[in-house]
Amino acid sequence: MQALALLGGPKTIPVPFRRYNSIGPEELAAAKSVIESGVLSQFLGVWHEDFYGGPKVREFERRAAEYFGVKHAVTVNSWTSGLVAAIGAIGIEPGDEVIVTPWTMSATATAILHWNAIPVFADIDPETYNLDPKSIERQITPYTRAIMIADIFGQSADMEEIMALAARHGLQVISDTAQAPGALYKGRYAGTRAHVGGYSLNYHKHIHTGEGGILVTDDDGIAERLQLIRNHAEVVVGDKGVANLANMLGYNFRLGEIECAIGIEQLAKLAGLVASRQSLAAALTDGLRGLAGLQTPVVGQDRSHVYYVYPMQIDPAVLGTTRDRICDALNAEGVAVSRHYQNIHLLPVYQNRIAYGSKGFPWTSDICRRQVDYRKGICPVAEKLNDETYMGFGMCVYDLDHSDIDRIVEAFRKVWANLDQLRT
Ligand SMILES: *Cc1c(COP(=O)(O)O)cnc(C)c1O
Repeated sequence: MQALALLGGPKTIPVPFRRYNSIGPEELAAAKSVIESGVLSQFLGVWHEDFYGGPKVREFERRAAEYFGVKHAVTVNSWTSGLVAAIGAIGIEPGDEVIVTPWTMSATATAILHWNAIPVFADIDPETYNLDPKSIERQITPYTRAIMIADIFGQSADMEEIMALAARHGLQVISDTAQAPGALYKGRYAGTRAHVGGYSLNYHKHIHTGEGGILVTDDDGIAERLQLIRNHAEVVVGDKGVANLANMLGYNFRLGEIECAIGIEQLAKLAGLVASRQSLAAALTDGLRGLAGLQTPVVGQDRSHVYYVYPMQIDPAVLGTTRDRICDALNAEGVAVSRHYQNIHLLPVYQNRIAYGSKGFPWTSDICRRQVDYRKGICPVAEKLNDETYMGFGMCVYDLDHSDIDRIVEAFRKVWANLDQLRT
């Protein structure tokens, strides 16, 4: 048996994999036609026909609504903007609490702070990495207004249970489905069961427009408020005759014509791109079967996983070495696994409670009606995963084929055959 690359042996994968690239001649032609038209964005920030944007914006939104099976799709210039718009659109009040997952990208929770509402962290399920409905329920207080879930890594949270819980407590549900476009949950697309949900279109996701995002909702009122927040609400509401002025502070969250023209082509490719990730992930799971102390992804009942990330867990007690040593060994073999995801409750903004200005607003103000706990220890499942057991492989980082998967499996098997070299 050859020595591990970490210890001076040969690398299993000496040449890095090619970068994932979903962009081709279709997107080039679509972008070119917009450029030739000379109209790169047709939005007007006043109450006018062009308040809703130009032809490509409208066509992309029409197609996305049809594709995802929702009444309304609203494009935005990033999914971060989409999350901010969603929190505003549900009519959040300053000081309202929103229960959110710590196992997500930071923007999921900062969107809440941007309206002076208070993020409250619940813990995740150790197998699916999504919010655990029982933990959500424990965090509900008289001040809770909404639940912000994330369909993390590519599979839907337990939406039936979460929507039922929300209905019992009169809460709104927002779904950050940035990583799971095209994932199914009980026959419907992830992101579409919440009161408002949506997808990121940034460069790193399954499909992208460079930067961008798309919100989905079946609620006419929410859709209107999303459109208003996207495009200078405060100057539009008067002429449009909007009676409810809550959170009608607008932004410029508009996505351009070029991006939407590209988005139309990308949406048409989504099913194929998702199927290719699923087939690669299935082969990887097959190849890794039988490796002691390694847990491959667990897919919940009645749903599909689109593998934005292929998540795994290491059992240090079984392996006799640490997760970090295993990651070092795999990285050295040429498999770029990551050993951390996120524990966003531990970010400085929450640990120091410094957000707006320097004096602790909103936590130190009257709008925050109770002391909210952000100390390490509040999310034991998410913390243990990050500190000791989680390991992920970014399936949307590389342009992989089945022979690449074979080499990844070979690298894992080499490391597992040499575990004694990693024990000190
Ligand atoms: C990518 C991502 C975002 C942010 O999306 P942008 O389009 O980059 O603003 C938010 N939440 C999650 C879970 C993400 O993966």
